[in-house]
Formats: sequence, C-alpha cells, structure tokens
Amino acid sequence: MKRRELLKLGLAAGLGAGLSPILGSKALAQAAPAAAIEPRRVVLHNLHTGEALDAVYWDQGRYVPDALVSVNKVLRDYRTNDVHAMDPRLLDLLHEVHGRVGADKPFQVISGYRSPHTNALLHARSGQVAAHSLHMDGMAIDVRMEGVALDHLHKAALDLKVGGVGLYPTSDFVHMDIGRVRRWAGA
Ligand SMILES: [Zn+2]
Repeated sequence: MKRRELLKLGLAAGLGAGLSPILGSKALAQAAPAAAIEPRRVVLHNLHTGEALDAVYWDQGRYVPDALVSVNKVLRDYRTNDVHAMDPRLLDLLHEVHGRVGADKPFQVISGYRSPHTNALLHARSGQVAAHSLHMDGMAIDVRMEGVALDHLHKAALDLKVGGVGLYPTSDFVHMDIGRVRRWAGA
C-alpha cells in the first residue's frame, strides 16, 4: 500500500513519464477512481438466528478471507447449520445496492445459503422455490431493510442490472442473485 501511495504521488508530481511499460500500467491502475480502491463493507442481520455482522470484506484490492468466513457463517443454512462458501460477487452486489438505497442500515436476511435438504423441503412446500435455487450455490440472498420501502430496495437492485431480482411483497423481501439478469414477482 505504501508503494502504491508513492506511485500515486509520483504521478501527481508529474514523474510518470519514462516509466517502464509494466510499471506504467500499474501506475495507470492507480489513477482509477477512488471508489475502486475504497474498502467495501457488508452489514448483515440474520433474522432467524439474530446474528449480526459488520465487516470490511474487500480491502486494498482484494477480498478479506477472515471476513468471508464470517459472512459464510452468518449466511449459513439456519435449519441444518450447514455452512457454504458464499460467492463474494454477491457481497459486491449487496454493497452496490446498499449504496444506491442510501440508508445506513443492515440488510435483514431472510435466506442466504440453502442446503440441498432445505431447498428440497421448501420446493416441496412452495411453488415459489426452484428445484435448484441459486441459494444452493451461495449465489442468492433474500433481504429487506428496516426503514426502507421494499419498492425502493427492489428498484435499487433492478437498476444495477446484475443477476436476478425477485419481489415478494407479501413475504416482504427482495431476492437478489448473481445468476443471469432476469426479474420476477412472487408473493
Ligand atoms: Zn431467494
């Protein structure tokens, strides 16, 4: 990080000229907008277990392994206690949605990871649950946010045009995933 700062300073001072091509491309990367290198946080509250997490999951250009472990635990299948790796891109999606919603509140989690057992149970019980849900791959999450209208949260997710977005007004949550872009309305 110190070296990066130095590179940045070097550029700012007009010392960028004459850099080798490799160093030059690194220096160019440093010229990226500040947002690209700012730490990213994820703030979760699992409504089933009561567990909460507020963690920087991406810092200095990479995902933070310890934070991902904590995320996986909080988003585990609360019925079976199975822990599964959540796809970090899902956290990026949440991060972007959070920014767009503009509220400093945690995501309230209705469903994160679902084991095959749990998904089969829910699929049998409800026509709204796919036989192979992306929840089983750690690529989907069902959330709401305290004090934020569901429509607002829904629109923020849709506007990103990343993955699938399902609106469940009666159950009061938005499903977001990092599968292909699609949208639907449930109950
Ligand atoms: Zn879902």
